[in-house]
Order: sequence, then C-alpha cells, then structure tokens
Amino acid sequence: PVPVVAIDGPSASGKGTVAARVAEALGYHCLDSGSLYRLVALAGIRGGLSFDDEAGLAAIAATLPARFADGRVFLAGEDVTDAIRSEEASGGASKVAALPAVRSALLDRQRDYRHAPGLVAEGRDMGSVIFPDAGTKIFLTATAEARAERRYKQLIEKGMAANMKSLLKDLQDRDARDAARTVAPLQKLPDAALLDTTEMDVEQAVGFVLDRVRS
Ligand code: C5P
Repeated sequence: PVPVVAIDGPSASGKGTVAARVAEALGYHCLDSGSLYRLVALAGIRGGLSFDDEAGLAAIAATLPARFADGRVFLAGEDVTDAIRSEEASGGASKVAALPAVRSALLDRQRDYRHAPGLVAEGRDMGSVIFPDAGTKIFLTATAEARAERRYKQLIEKGMAANMKSLLKDLQDRDARDAARTVAPLQKLPDAALLDTTEMDVEQAVGFVLDRVRS
C-alpha cells in the first residue's frame, strides 16, 4: 500500500508547517484535514445553518466543492484561504467536527488523498480513524503557552491585532472540545511517537519526523 505519515496534535502546534515540509522532503502529497472542517463551518455560516444542524452540515460536507492548489484553499472557486482562518470559522470548525455525520461524510474524501508515492496527513484522527494502518504515526504537541505565543507572533508579523490572553483561552477551549468529544477525540495513540516541539524549531521537528519515516 501507499505509505502514509500521520501527524496528529492540538491546535496551533505547528503540525501544518511540519507536515508540509516533510511532504516536500519526501515528494509526498499532503492533506490538511482541518481545512475540510473549516470549509464545512464556513459554508454552514454562509448558508445560515446553525452549528447543531447535523443533517444540514453533513449534506454540505458530503458535497463540499473544495479545491486545494498552490497552497490556497478554494470553496466553489472562491479563494477562502484567509476566510477559513477567521475566529468564527475556527470556532465553528471545532463545533462541526464534533458531529458524527459530518465526520463520516468526510471519510472517503480524506482517504482519496492516498496516492503514490505517499501521503503526509495532518489533523486529529489521522492515525486513529482515517489511516489506522499508517506506517508512521506522530503526536505533535507543545504547551498551550508556547502555541499561543507562536500564533501571537504570526498575527503581529501579518500586522494584525492580537491578544495573548484571548489567544490562549481560545486554544484551551478548542483543545478541551477536541479532547472531550465522543467521536474521534484528540488523543495520543500508544503506537504514535510523541514529538513535543515546545523547545524545538521547525527544522528539528521536521528532522524528527523524517528520521521516524526512514528508520
Ligand atoms: O487543524 P485545524 O486547527 O485547522 O482544525 C480545525 C478544527 O477541525 C479543529 O479544532 C478540530 O476540531 C477539527 N479537526 C478534527 N479532525 C481533524 C482535523 C481537524 O476534528 N482530523
């Protein structure tokens, strides 16, 4: 079977950056599964759906007109790369992600990313639900404080307003929702390698993952 590197972990842990760099180094495809939940949330908001309308959101997820190209994310042809990162879409993503019918509507779409020569998939349940047979499983994390600080720096660099206290609170709320839900809760699997990047830079984290893939 086509090899899969599954990278799971909490919000703002740097999974996305590390996954993209590992995929590039290996020449593999990359799946950012969180953006699918973000797209469902955004499409739901725009369609005026409530975040507890499970059937309506699952219908959106089943027919989501999503496209990924050149690092950009498109919804029905519109570039929504920034829109899916808004506070509203981020909070909404973790709410729609708790709905079992939404998760199952996105199952096949995620598995379809498994093409030769290989796939690096990042999210919350890559190693547990989507690709349980992945050859490499990583649980990538960092303390909530370190993650909030990284997000803070990114926002400041982009010239955007940022508040450390509310960023930290937002991360902790999302972590709690991801860990407490009954379907695919965020957890470190016994067969996943723990990668704590609190004191690491991106190079070191990428190196750690590549070592595991090649060993
Ligand atoms: O990773 P990212 O922060 O973009 O994910 C957005 C939200 O989607 C998360 O807060 C999480 O609730 C949900 N998610 C998920 N399963 C995944 C990826 C993301 O439940 N595999």
